[in-house]
Amino acid sequence: MSEKLFFLDGKRAMISLGPLTTNQYCPYKCAFCYVQDGFKKYANLDEDAILKFLIDNRAHYNIIYVSGDTDSFAPPRTNRALSLIERIVLETDCDVLFTTRTKFTEDNYDTLKRIIEEQRRTGNHLFACISITRYSDEVSYLEPYPIPTPEERIKVLKRLKCLGATTVLAMRPFLPVVSVQDYLTILEKSRGYIDIALGECFYFIPGGKIYKRVFPNGINQSIARNVTHGNKMIFDDNDEDWDIWDSSEYEDTVRNKCNELNIIFSMHSEEAIEKYIKTRG
Ligand code: SF4
Repeated sequence: MSEKLFFLDGKRAMISLGPLTTNQYCPYKCAFCYVQDGFKKYANLDEDAILKFLIDNRAHYNIIYVSGDTDSFAPPRTNRALSLIERIVLETDCDVLFTTRTKFTEDNYDTLKRIIEEQRRTGNHLFACISITRYSDEVSYLEPYPIPTPEERIKVLKRLKCLGATTVLAMRPFLPVVSVQDYLTILEKSRGYIDIALGECFYFIPGGKIYKRVFPNGINQSIARNVTHGNKMIFDDNDEDWDIWDSSEYEDTVRNKCNELNIIFSMHSEEAIEKYIKTRG
């Protein structure tokens, strides 16, 4: 295997365009972003070098995630990220999942349509994943401007579904400062346009940057009850010990709603994708 520049776990290759600048890893500034407290940044490579990494390591994954340490699709890199995906689908013959919080232009949708059609032609999947972590304005500090509003991102999901993509709604991570009703509202508003919904437990480091931004008033007893300590991340190989907030109430409530709406739900993308391919793909 060539030098490790991105994340490979034997099934997934997780890649991105890397940090936006030397001082800013992402165009957005989500309060809960794991990169603030230790999630590893990926390499900052041009498209030829990213493709070379993917081709050299083709035996070590069966799906490519354009995701991870930055939102590669957020302005000012939207066109670059889309042209990278277009090259990936033309040159790797592989399922692809991309994740973003951004909005797209009509030109962008034309490119996405070509990508979706190419994946269909080659018998591969294109999972278009839109992240929406809250609905209520009361917790808008979690996803500060210029992140598009939840309504704008729901419109992106609908448009991608109409273009023929397999659509994924990532309500990740579930956060204790967001009411479970918020997640039900997002599902209701995007019903009919989502194939897969994802939740995820919430990782933070006590007293760290994420902790301070997500819990400006500290943690109360009802949150602390669902926290375990000293965990490693399963989707990144950083050395930090993380606290995890994990709520069966949130998970069960969202799962039941997804069952009612005929949406595949999982706390793990790999499990959800396997289920989708087995039952609907
Ligand atoms: S969009 Fe993703 S990478 Fe960027 S700040 Fe938000 S969580 Fe972090």
